[in-house]
Amino acid sequence: MTRPIYVTQPYLPPLEDFIPYLQQIWDRKILTNGGPFHQQLEQALCDYLGVKHLALFANGTIALVTALQALRITGEVITTPYSFVATAHSLLWNGIKPVFVDVDPDTLNLDPARIEAAITPQTTAIMPVHVYGHPCDVKAIQKIADTYNLRVIYDAAHAFGVQDKSGSVLNHGDLSVLSFHATKVFNTFEGGAIVCPDAKTKLRIDQLKNFGFVDEVTVVAPGINGKMSEINAAFGMLQLQHIDAVRNRRQEIDAAYRQQLAGVKGIRCLNDAGETVRNYSYFPVLVQPEYPLGRDALYEKLKTHGIYARRYFYPLISDFPMYRGLPSAQRSNLPVAADAADKVLCLPIFPALQPQEQQRVIDIIQGG
Ligand SMILES: *Cc1c(COP(=O)(O)O)cnc(C)c1O
Repeated sequence: MTRPIYVTQPYLPPLEDFIPYLQQIWDRKILTNGGPFHQQLEQALCDYLGVKHLALFANGTIALVTALQALRITGEVITTPYSFVATAHSLLWNGIKPVFVDVDPDTLNLDPARIEAAITPQTTAIMPVHVYGHPCDVKAIQKIADTYNLRVIYDAAHAFGVQDKSGSVLNHGDLSVLSFHATKVFNTFEGGAIVCPDAKTKLRIDQLKNFGFVDEVTVVAPGINGKMSEINAAFGMLQLQHIDAVRNRRQEIDAAYRQQLAGVKGIRCLNDAGETVRNYSYFPVLVQPEYPLGRDALYEKLKTHGIYARRYFYPLISDFPMYRGLPSAQRSNLPVAADAADKVLCLPIFPALQPQEQQRVIDIIQGG
């Protein structure tokens, strides 16, 4: 019997290891509102990731919405169409107009060379994404931001634990936003965080995620309820103990794919983008015209063998109904992203993927 193989399967530590954490919550009867596990996890993540300040959230999307509010971003924001839809949704939730700019063909990250042409007097910020955990060209983006006095908020949902020569990739820009959703490298069932450089910004973010309360009787902004519960934070503390083992296993899977797919004509593996520490969060391949099957045919073929690869990111965000009317959403403005969306397939990668299961995936792809 073979089990179905999905693109990812969340990592879960042994259940009995979680019981003592639950016991503490039951004993303390503090369930949320910045409780002890919430405080512990914020500190532990700062230490593990190598960042100064971090505010936990109920999920990554509310963290993105709040990050834009924390910096009072308005008008137009330059962003990428090649991402999960929450990136642009966070702009619409703030009444901000997304302006889509094409991506770089090597990294599929926002192409800095195309940003300047999209800047207007209404532009206030850039929201790039470190797609698949490969860092954006942070230097070039910062240079443009400095020249035009723009803020930079990174959607770093894929970039947990990623480092470049200067340390954590999360230290670039004004803010970085993480997701701890079940499908991500580090998960708290649902969860997210904003990484910020100073205590003053962290305080404002903490107020915004708690309805705008400053003290018992003072509300300074129409904040949201974005707080992470004690159960999720406790689970995060337990997950952190396993994160290095999880990464090592992902690294082995990544290496096996690279080695065995290197000789397959028409299958292009995406390379890293200058990071010194990777997180192996995804394994995207681009199915080229030289491959005997089209991308969708390969996707369907894998499916008939019980392997559920995913077309991340297809469709482009700019092709969804609430975006496609924007002038910047036209495919002629986004040829590189459109081409990648038509070719990409993310292959299964997760710690519990067995070597013989991975071999089945590889054999089918090699079979053409
Ligand atoms: C997962 C993800 C999000 C949303 O995070 P949630 O925690 O699911 O709300 C945002 N952006 C990108 C790029 C993502 O992959």
